Amino acid sequence: MNCEIFKQNIAELFDESVASGGEQSAIQREMLEHIETCADCKALYEEFCYTMDVLTPSVNAEPSVEFSRRLSERIEKATPKRKSLHRVLYRVGGAVASVAAMFLVVINLLPATPAKASSGYFGKAAAKLNQAQSLFMRISMRTMPAENFDFLDPTAEFVEHTVQRVGEAWRVDKGDRVMFGDGGQWWQWVESWNNGWTGYGVPSVLVDLMVNPQKLMQFEKSLAEADLGVIYETRNEGGLTFVTVTSPALGDWLESNYMYMSSILESDSRREYAFDRRTKELIAASVYVLYGTEEEKVLTVDQIIYNAPIMSADVARLPEGIEFVEPLNANSGARFVGISARQAAVKVFEAMKIWDVEVLREGIPFVDVERLRDDYEGVTILEVKDAVRSGLYVGYFVPMKVQYRNGKSEELMVAMRNDTPSGGWIVDGGI
Ligand SMILES: [Zn+2]
Repeated sequence: MNCEIFKQNIAELFDESVASGGEQSAIQREMLEHIETCADCKALYEEFCYTMDVLTPSVNAEPSVEFSRRLSERIEKATPKRKSLHRVLYRVGGAVASVAAMFLVVINLLPATPAKASSGYFGKAAAKLNQAQSLFMRISMRTMPAENFDFLDPTAEFVEHTVQRVGEAWRVDKGDRVMFGDGGQWWQWVESWNNGWTGYGVPSVLVDLMVNPQKLMQFEKSLAEADLGVIYETRNEGGLTFVTVTSPALGDWLESNYMYMSSILESDSRREYAFDRRTKELIAASVYVLYGTEEEKVLTVDQIIYNAPIMSADVARLPEGIEFVEPLNANSGARFVGISARQAAVKVFEAMKIWDVEVLREGIPFVDVERLRDDYEGVTILEVKDAVRSGLYVGYFVPMKVQYRNGKSEELMVAMRNDTPSGGWIVDGGI
């Protein structure tokens, strides 16, 4: 056994019989021995375990009785309802695990799974999108114009997004919130809040997929090939081929369904794609979220222009009068290293009680803490439960009951993450 052979055969370790503690084949035994002594392969294996965890729908989509039962159970249990959207998620950074990145791992590591016919359409469309020098798209989604880009609200009106991409530069504008990137750094602002943020990397899964729809096509292709019980239908109409994908919500739902239906990927959904039969290009798409037997259209790609005449200067244009802060810097979370999410949340609330600005600035980097002072100074903790994971969120949610200075008490789900430069915890939302 060596690292090369291990990498080529890693899918073997996710075979049903090994996963359920059954008989191991010779190669599986050798591979398990190998990771005892090889840190690299062990890390790869652990990364893959995590990916499989996130990828494997918690509902096995036999779209039959079991699917509907589990789904309605989950909807019923979907409490507490996320409160006032504005307050819950002010997160601006890469708060959701990079799904696109995780799917790339799957494409590389699951060569032997049966490919569905549909995967061919997605593969060709991905290539066409990749080849385009520039892209212009109009996308409508049920959300709020100021909310963060991943945020889905199936009961809200459609908000139009314009998406532009030329070379490495891209821009997504949803009316009030705008983000652009140059391939390395990104800038994001909400005009009505007069707030701007900047950072590096991929700040939003949905923005990443809007700007790089070829990743969405790769995602669908890998999903088709991974054979996770997703349902595919294809039909031809005029010069178009329609491919419909019905799949359960992605993410971890064992501990909490708090994030269920908070984004498109975290919803049970039906996605409909229209491809030009001659050019193989993706020309439109619609996404419906499913509620048991009901469904609601939540996103449509209304227009895609390949090689549109887009000027880089128009894409990379900053607003006047907005100051940009870089919330995730070396200080973020610095005092919250080496403790649990639960302990970190408690520490933040204790600092609120006595209004220790130094601690709060490190623990709540995404907002100007002075804005929170009226509401939170003097707050006391009544109850804290164990932190839970939910959906695709990279961090944890800490269920808390707190009492404010004015005597009112409230239950909160405080979002905590530690994928910060310091490795310490910060509050990412829920207050
Ligand atoms: Zn190795």
